[in-house]
Amino acid sequence: MPLPDLWFAPSLCFIDSQWRKAESGDTLPIFDPSTGEEIGAIAKGGAADIDQAVNAAERSRQGDWGRMTAPERGRVLARIGQIVLERVDALARIEATDVGKPLKQAKADAVALARYMEFYAGAADKLHGQTIPYLDGYTVYTLREPHGVTGHIIPWNYPMQIIGRSVGAALATGNAAVLKPAEEACLTALAFADIAREAGLPAGALNVVPGLGEEAGAALSSHPGIHHISFTGSVGVGKLIQSTASQNVVPVTLELGGKSPQLVFDDADLDAALPFLVNAGIQNAGQTCSASSRILVQRGVYNEVMSRMAEHYSALRVGPAMADLDVGPLISAKQKKIVSSFLEQGGQLEMVAKGRIMDDAPSDGNYIAPHLFAGVSPDHALAQDEIFGPVQVVIPFQDESDAVAIANGTKFGLVASVWTRDGARQMRLARALRSGQVFLNNYGAGGGVELPFGGTGLSGHGREKGFEALYGFTTLKTVAALHG
Ligand code: NAD
Repeated sequence: MPLPDLWFAPSLCFIDSQWRKAESGDTLPIFDPSTGEEIGAIAKGGAADIDQAVNAAERSRQGDWGRMTAPERGRVLARIGQIVLERVDALARIEATDVGKPLKQAKADAVALARYMEFYAGAADKLHGQTIPYLDGYTVYTLREPHGVTGHIIPWNYPMQIIGRSVGAALATGNAAVLKPAEEACLTALAFADIAREAGLPAGALNVVPGLGEEAGAALSSHPGIHHISFTGSVGVGKLIQSTASQNVVPVTLELGGKSPQLVFDDADLDAALPFLVNAGIQNAGQTCSASSRILVQRGVYNEVMSRMAEHYSALRVGPAMADLDVGPLISAKQKKIVSSFLEQGGQLEMVAKGRIMDDAPSDGNYIAPHLFAGVSPDHALAQDEIFGPVQVVIPFQDESDAVAIANGTKFGLVASVWTRDGARQMRLARALRSGQVFLNNYGAGGGVELPFGGTGLSGHGREKGFEALYGFTTLKTVAALHG
């Protein structure tokens, strides 16, 4: 599919509210994952562009943006959210073409972006300090202040949602932001920047520099003018970012990968569970940090769950984003290769069911049929490693302690869910599971904007979303006045 009509320039950087070529003049080609066709080019930003963006952000926080009161910031964010809502269809078409996401899922992301803006617009003037009883003659209170210039490095799988949660919270608290989107998916980030300009966000408060991770991304994470880094992406790059940021002693929020389990007990309401068990694994073709890639099932219902999941899988249709089927293509030929090599490792496992790639899906698209594997040992690579494709493994368990040991038996800890009617068990497991979020009798893949989100272990640290993000994007100052 050719790109839909754009109201911004896709091959430029957005710095200081101006559209500029990368200093090098270079661009990078972009491809439609549904067809494999080259559909345009983005700027290949580098260190010089990042430097300009950080300087523009610094000027903005010391100027017009920094002088705005919290309610004024909230009003700007609300206007951004409003324009995003008005352009939901256009944003969804751009995302579907650029990322290969089925149109309905892309639209849900655009609506979520508006909702993030709405939430953080309302939260901007509700971040209070505390008064602290202290020694006689003192008044002590705390102030929540923005870090300053925040760097945002994001992946390609949910650009709009991740911009919403990270840039939204950073702006609400008065930071000025520099965003480096993933080279595979820059377009909605650029669209968003132009919407923010139109909504009245002062120049420099948000800057977007597309480019390669090892160039623009590395330049942003090591820039001495950055005061906080929010990184969402792979574990390997997350480690690099944390180590680079440590050189400047800069706080980092890391939102990394996952191997999120759903635990299905014998007494679960299977009718309620079934759609969640499958959808949480195949949404966005499994390219979701909080995808539920492990389904742990108690032996009493194992056969029934297996056969019902297999039925769901056999009905899954895979095809181009614009056909809006259950599953679209993977983001790139590279990602398809990675997922295919996992499927090869699953060669000796029992593959129970598979979705269907439609006959008319373009042969150069990055399609992989969803795969469901049964009876997988908890230590098999498919049950341990993040695959980032539409692949789920089902692991049987005996009892509650067995289930907890398996669920906690990976290096990740992002999301988990428990399906049981036993209230006491729900409470025990909510505590026992090593995970940033636990869903009881549902699965939220992160949940809505209100719910704090983030991981433990290799899934990262720090929390975004909800009110918690406002703490992360601010620093606390304690004021102690001796007045006698
Ligand atoms: P990635 O780590 O390859 O890239 C993420 C971003 O980092 C991109 O913008 C990339 O250009 C940049 N980058 C790459 N090398 C860099 C470097 N040396 N210095 C600075 N920046 C660099 O990840 P990806 O393949 O785009 O995304 C997939 C990963 O993201 C998965 O592991 C997934 O679980 C994770 N993810 C996590 C969440 C979450 O909220 N926890 C959400 C989405 C994706």
